[in-house]
Amino acid sequence: MDVVIVGAGIVGLAVAREMLRRWPRLQLAVIEKEDRIAAHQSGHNSGVIHSGIYYAPGSLKARLCVAGSRALVRYCDEHGIPYDLSGKVIVATDESELPRLEELHRRGIANGVEGLEMIGPERLREIEPHATGIRALYSPRTGIVDYVAVAQSYALDVTSAGGEILTGRAVTSIVRSNDRVILLTTRGGIEARFLITCAGLYSDRIAAMTGAPAEPRIVPFRGDYFVLRPERVDLVRSMIYPVPDPSFPFLGVHFTRRIEGGVWLGPNAVLAFAREGYQRLTFDLGDLLDALGYSGFQALAAKYWRTGLEEMYRDFSKSAFLASLQRYVPELTEADLLPGPSGVRAQALSPDGKLVDDFVIHGDANVLHVRNAPSPAATSSLAIAEYIADRAAEAFHLNEEQPRLYAGADVPADAGSQPDA
Ligand SMILES: Cc1cc2nc3c(=O)[nH]c(=O)nc-3n(C[C@H](O)[C@H](O)[C@H](O)COP(=O)(O)OP(=O)(O)OC[C@H]3O[C@@H](n4cnc5c(N)ncnc54)[C@H](O)[C@@H]3O)c2cc1C
Repeated sequence: MDVVIVGAGIVGLAVAREMLRRWPRLQLAVIEKEDRIAAHQSGHNSGVIHSGIYYAPGSLKARLCVAGSRALVRYCDEHGIPYDLSGKVIVATDESELPRLEELHRRGIANGVEGLEMIGPERLREIEPHATGIRALYSPRTGIVDYVAVAQSYALDVTSAGGEILTGRAVTSIVRSNDRVILLTTRGGIEARFLITCAGLYSDRIAAMTGAPAEPRIVPFRGDYFVLRPERVDLVRSMIYPVPDPSFPFLGVHFTRRIEGGVWLGPNAVLAFAREGYQRLTFDLGDLLDALGYSGFQALAAKYWRTGLEEMYRDFSKSAFLASLQRYVPELTEADLLPGPSGVRAQALSPDGKLVDDFVIHGDANVLHVRNAPSPAATSSLAIAEYIADRAAEAFHLNEEQPRLYAGADVPADAGSQPDA
């Protein structure tokens, strides 16, 4: 292979698609451990097309979210994928939140988000008749989409362009030899000239297999949703968000109308006891010890243990979850909340306990790693793919007229013991 991509989530598939668009003669494969694409974060999220309000101006998140959301809407138009730019409100319920709301407004303008408007309670009621607040930031171009449908469409683009998507094949180790990379998988080895890793919840472990630093490590944060009882979906027209706590990269529990119908309430953010732990009590001793023994996690826990405990309490207490939602929609009752799905966020944490805010992408002459691609990476996927293809062009010395680079075939499963085979 010329290029192997690890991970058939929305980012890996977008990257594969973009690589083949730019260099159609590349021999390219995407390797995925699950038996289907978009099985983890890309298939367990809020389905929001973020407009780019929250992110520090100049950051990768800011640039790639704004460019990515526009590109995504164009892509959905071209491919007949349903979406709705139904807009959202970020609502302040007391005076203490106003400076942070103003700051979000400034950030959004600096990031080039279109149509932002500060509104008062009356206009809020026009947009969301059941919401209350003293002021709100209205973003008319925030939207909703089904990211599994988007990922499926990217996958079709990849295979139509001659790329392979090999599912049911987990990468177990990686050997680097001269200018080649040999991936050992649960179904034999694959040799490639270049490797791009987009492994989500395992991005740190896959990067470490190539000799890259294990830090920043991924700490999994589960988010649980409730679903609004169908008879009560009229309580929410589109999306209602709180003003987020600036110390955390999570947006706070919100109300989101789904493109397929219905309204989701959440997600919260609690430490998951397993990297792919979708249930409250799913437990993986290795993952848990890995998190608890990490200096970054210990530093984070020492600083935010109270918030962490409050989040865990809210996770087990429906009435506490309800209370945080009633701040925005007071008519909501406990009977309106039905159990919903969960997702697990791959959040990078630095050794000194900082939740890494921006996207992190790094590598060397043969390998590029996506180390941190939490929200809004689904929104940004097409722009992230362009960014990575630019980096690959430079690092891998690919050019416009790139011929097929590598004529090798799959190598046997025991290739690790014969790296030069
Ligand atoms: C609860 C929640 C809500 C969110 N809401 C939004 C939102 O509204 N809008 C938005 O833009 N973003 C949102 N996000 C973020 C978004 O879902 C992610 O940023 C995005 O899906 C990341 O895509 P990815 O391809 O990097 O990761 P993933 O989708 O997790 O894909 C990584 C893939 O790598 C595979 N893999 C891992 N290890 C191996 C291995 N050893 N061998 C082979 N394959 C491997 C995995 O099986 C997986 O399929 C949300 C995320 C969560 C969890």
